[in-house]
Amino acid sequence: MSKSLQAIRGMNDILPEQTPLWRYFENTVARLLDNYGYKQIRMPIVEFTELFKRSIGEVTDIVEKEMYTFEDRNGDSLTLRPEGTAACVRAVLEHGLTGAGQPQKLWYIGPMFRHERPQKGRYRQFHQIGLEVFNIEGPDIDAELIVLTWRLWGLLGIRDAVKLELNSLGTSESRGRYKVALVEYLSAHLDKLDEDSQRRLKTNPLRVLDTKNADTQAVLVDAPKMADYLDDESRTHFEGLKARLEAAGIPFVINTKLVRGLDYYSKTVFEWVTDKLGAQGTVCAGGRYDGLVEQMGGKPTTGVGFAMGIERLILLLETLEKVPEEISRQVDVYLCAFGEAAELAALALSEQVRDQLPNLRLQVNAGAGSFKSQFKKADKSGALYALILGDDELAQQVIGFKPLRGQGEQQNIAFDALAAHLATCVVQG
Ligand code: ATP
Ligand code: MG
Repeated sequence: MSKSLQAIRGMNDILPEQTPLWRYFENTVARLLDNYGYKQIRMPIVEFTELFKRSIGEVTDIVEKEMYTFEDRNGDSLTLRPEGTAACVRAVLEHGLTGAGQPQKLWYIGPMFRHERPQKGRYRQFHQIGLEVFNIEGPDIDAELIVLTWRLWGLLGIRDAVKLELNSLGTSESRGRYKVALVEYLSAHLDKLDEDSQRRLKTNPLRVLDTKNADTQAVLVDAPKMADYLDDESRTHFEGLKARLEAAGIPFVINTKLVRGLDYYSKTVFEWVTDKLGAQGTVCAGGRYDGLVEQMGGKPTTGVGFAMGIERLILLLETLEKVPEEISRQVDVYLCAFGEAAELAALALSEQVRDQLPNLRLQVNAGAGSFKSQFKKADKSGALYALILGDDELAQQVIGFKPLRGQGEQQNIAFDALAAHLATCVVQG
């Protein structure tokens, strides 16, 4: 195929054989979030570039080198969203959703775009489910965000494969004091830092903490610790969070080097990581961003949220073989009809059945075909039962009912008894 007719590198089709797992995952999350009282919000995929520069921060990896930015026909600079928080805050402000200090518990789902090097678990178009909570400032809500993800891992059967890492970044003041101390220390060891860290020392010194370079890591062993610079309020908040996680029985580890890639975090930051996916091990990450709304022009409004990477979680379900068997079967009953008269009757009958059993997954054969070929299609569809309607059955106003997976004998069912019969043998979701 000519190159111009291929998908863009790092941007994937999600094929029909994969979509059942995606939908299972998305539906599981959506139901859980309904149960915890979160409301869905849907934002556009494109925003003014300025939004991301102002919220994510000019010297972050995302804004420095990962954004898909272009000029539209009016000459405005637009960007395909690289994450959801900025747009969510924009929408909340634009529509006054947090005016008068009212709390909001929101979630969103959708594609995000970052120009990164594509590899397993890292793509240029990828999908996130994100939560953002505004105007609830205590650690109780930080804990709820973590508790509900823990419940999700339980529903998905992957609790054993993920680990929670926690840190507190303090307030912007305490972080500022820590930054000064860190820069002072690292500057004294400048020659032992890798090139990237030398650069970050000037632009975003906290990011040096999560370097992968062994020499720089060695220098960091004796570096000042963020925990020693925390202000009292952040310390109390962090203790409150830890107490709640302990009360809920959720294991965690404190990772003092966890700083997160975005500028806007304060106090709590956390990541759920797995060692089952190689280098792309973070499946869910977030934290508190109490200063962001004000920084974006709103009234002081606390915020806390996280986003999970759907591709990585799907990969994890596949790797751990936690894909429920029943999700791949999408047909309950397959109806075969032979000849014009039978096809007409089959159509009328199938619509009556759908009226009575709205959740029945009933596939009616299309494209005619011999007995053999229709039967083959019925079997291949994965259906549990085939219905068979030919001239003989039509004359008697019955339909052949044939179990395809060895559950009982073939029998004829009267047209007007069909829906009731199907209701007894197909579990409807
Ligand atoms: P990483 O350190 O892996 O680059 P990040 O800190 O840039 O992650 P966030 O911005 O916090 O990631 O996004 C939240 C989650 O979205 C990540 O934990 C990950 O699961 C997922 N994610 C981020 N970038 C990508 C990507 N390029 N491809 C697939 N998933 C991604
Ligand atoms: Mg990244």
